[in-house]
Amino acid sequence: MSEVRTRFSPSPTGSLHLGGAHTALFNWLIARHFQGAFVLRIEDTDKERSKEEFVTEILDAMGWLGLNWDEGPYRQSERLPIYLEYIDHLLAKGAAYYCDCQPEDLKMRREAALARGEKPKYDGRCRHRNLKPGPRTAVRFKGPETGVTRWHDLIKGHIAFDNQELDDLVILRTDGIPTYNFAVVVDDITMRITQIIRGEDHIPNTPRQIQIYEALGAELPGFAHMPLMLSTDRGKLSKRRGAKSVLDYRERGFLPQSLCNYLARLGWSHGDQEIFTREELIQYFTLEHATTSPGVFDEEKLLWVNSQQMKAMPPAALARELTPFLARIGIEAPEQEYVARAVPTLSARCHTLVEMAEAARFYFQDPRPYEEKGAKKFLTAEAAPILQEVARRLESLPEFSEAAINQLFHDLAAETGLKMVNLAQPVRLALTGRTASPGLFEIINILGSPETLQRIKTAISFAAGNT
Ligand code: GLU
Repeated sequence: MSEVRTRFSPSPTGSLHLGGAHTALFNWLIARHFQGAFVLRIEDTDKERSKEEFVTEILDAMGWLGLNWDEGPYRQSERLPIYLEYIDHLLAKGAAYYCDCQPEDLKMRREAALARGEKPKYDGRCRHRNLKPGPRTAVRFKGPETGVTRWHDLIKGHIAFDNQELDDLVILRTDGIPTYNFAVVVDDITMRITQIIRGEDHIPNTPRQIQIYEALGAELPGFAHMPLMLSTDRGKLSKRRGAKSVLDYRERGFLPQSLCNYLARLGWSHGDQEIFTREELIQYFTLEHATTSPGVFDEEKLLWVNSQQMKAMPPAALARELTPFLARIGIEAPEQEYVARAVPTLSARCHTLVEMAEAARFYFQDPRPYEEKGAKKFLTAEAAPILQEVARRLESLPEFSEAAINQLFHDLAAETGLKMVNLAQPVRLALTGRTASPGLFEIINILGSPETLQRIKTAISFAAGNT
């Protein structure tokens, strides 16, 4: 089998959104699964709407997602001479022609056709006029007037278009810029793309592109059209409903592997498995298990996937990911080993790195002010001697370990007849400022003896005055 080559070809007219990332990911996974090549191409022929800052942002988002490319980024704006060569080729073969119909005339003729109840397609006026190039001429593709253009879509199955439905497409505009349907075919031929995987909104373009392949005598690639993503109310994803930029998710504390995991499962499945490592995705991903029904983008599920991915991550790596989020809340350059010890205690309760940084705060900063309700209930004058006793026993622990701390609390409960909650809650408040936190013994063990004792002493003063 020849090498599998896929591509992602965003237009830099906006940020990389989830829909684009979904397409990029499917192409990347197919390339990686078959050990082929993944090509990145920037479709920037629309000078007005293309912006360099979006190119930068798209590359940044791809890099963050880990969707590395083997070739490119190519830029259509740098490939104009290649397109012109192919235009000349079609003109020479008689498969394209010059057209001097002006926009105003085309508009009038379209309206007249509509008024007669006909389809408003190009009427073929210049098709047989043998015009020469001029300042206001465009080039049109001479499409077949009869017959059917069909393909076997690798996701959607058989698709056919009646050629009568398709008019002669402009392939080179009067300003010398090729149109999308033409440039994309020349690119995909010259870049030797074997599978074109893109959103189903491109289905109407495909018969036109197939006709151009055929006119150029080029071998057809496979086409796969992915169902579009829907919002939870089954409408189109909009800015308000989930069509956010990939980098927003980075900002909000999602891991790139969570987004990839989640997006891979939208429109593809592997049995009942929901959580995948990157390697597993590469190993299992083929279009045979792509689904034809649209995937619904569900943020709740993405949050769940993210929490699972955080849990599955080695602590040192998770600590590295968390560090910039700690910096955001004023915890600068924390010791990585310490962060790595703290993160496993937090991952069961957090859905994002933003949440985790907040939950981790007490490991690094004074836990005060204490949660008001909790302090009123547990940091009372009666609690002060309990805290004192805990401190005394902690101080004289021969070995400071989680097991020893656990034993200490159980012995104290047994000896005093106090319920564990009345013993643990004052200490928890003293150390974390809250009534809910990770396991108390692991916290004490991580904070270490001097810091724990210091915090308990501060809480004793508070409690003594809390009458
Ligand atoms: N540049 C096109 C887009 O952003 C992609 C075209 C294609 O995949 O063929 O929609």
